[in-house]
Amino acid sequence: MKKITICSPMYNEAENIVQFYDEVSKILAKISDKYDYEFLFINDGSLDESLNIVEALREKDARVNFVDLSRNYGKEIAMAAGFDYATGDAMIIMDTDLQHPPAIILEMIKEWENGYQDVYGKRRERPGESWLKRKTSSYYYKILQKFSNVPVLPGVGDFRLLDRVCIEGIKKLRESQRYTKGMYMWVGYRKKEVLFDAEERFAGETKWKWSSLINLAIDGITSNTIMPLRITSFVGAVISIISFFYMIYIFCSTLFFGISGSGFPTLIITILFLGGLQLLFLGIIGEYIGKIFIEVKRRPIYLIQKYSGEKDFEKTGDP
Ligand code: UDP
Ligand code: MG
Repeated sequence: MKKITICSPMYNEAENIVQFYDEVSKILAKISDKYDYEFLFINDGSLDESLNIVEALREKDARVNFVDLSRNYGKEIAMAAGFDYATGDAMIIMDTDLQHPPAIILEMIKEWENGYQDVYGKRRERPGESWLKRKTSSYYYKILQKFSNVPVLPGVGDFRLLDRVCIEGIKKLRESQRYTKGMYMWVGYRKKEVLFDAEERFAGETKWKWSSLINLAIDGITSNTIMPLRITSFVGAVISIISFFYMIYIFCSTLFFGISGSGFPTLIITILFLGGLQLLFLGIIGEYIGKIFIEVKRRPIYLIQKYSGEKDFEKTGDP
């Protein structure tokens, strides 16, 4: 029997876990004659009762597993732990807040049986999200797509089924500044889209702050492409060429016509403009150097406090 891992990162989801477990179990019960399954909750340093609730579930149902991370690392890293500890032939990544409708699981598995190795959910619409968030994210994906050679799809998140080949592929990417959406694309394999309607959160509040979204957005660009660096070189080259001709122009007009303009405003504007541009470009270079700095330390991506199951190391490899 093939085994499916339902992997759910959770951070302070105490109010949602039981409901999530019930609804997903109900769906999986329908196909339990053909598939074995496990829940894999990744406790991302929750401060509430989340872990206790999962442990209580495990008492009743041995198919519930969990990995308890040593602190809050963020969803991207929680998912990395999910890839490492999943034991299934396929895994389905789902948020614990029931925004990803469990019924879609069956559709995903059907496509998996059809030979697709990465069946990703694409949102039809997003209730409860502001106009501003929708617009910025759609522009962001356009820019990201233009710049990187790894196309990241708009409206597609982490709700997806991954075959073991994809899991093994992503497990090889050990960077600690993670942008998992880029990784799914990077590993390739046969992809298939499944549409779904995102639900409202069952309970609790979204953990995303604007600041973390902006950070993830910057990570998305800087971990997928060095296009910003190329743009800085390009802008630098264009400005140098223009200044070169301007220099010849001033030189000639002074030499032949004796014009030596005053031009304090022009001067100060140019200095400020170029100064600003230089700082911006230094910042961009700094982003990449910062990434190098973090990656060369070669720290483990995460540490764990506790794992409920017995890992089949032969099969899944050790993180
Ligand atoms: N999450 C996590 N670690 C974090 C933040 C979030 O594991 O630091 C989990 C969270 O518990 C949920 C999923 O990631 O299962 C998506 O988070 P959330 O619902 O807050 O984000 P949104 O759906 O609003 O994008
Ligand atoms: Mg959510």
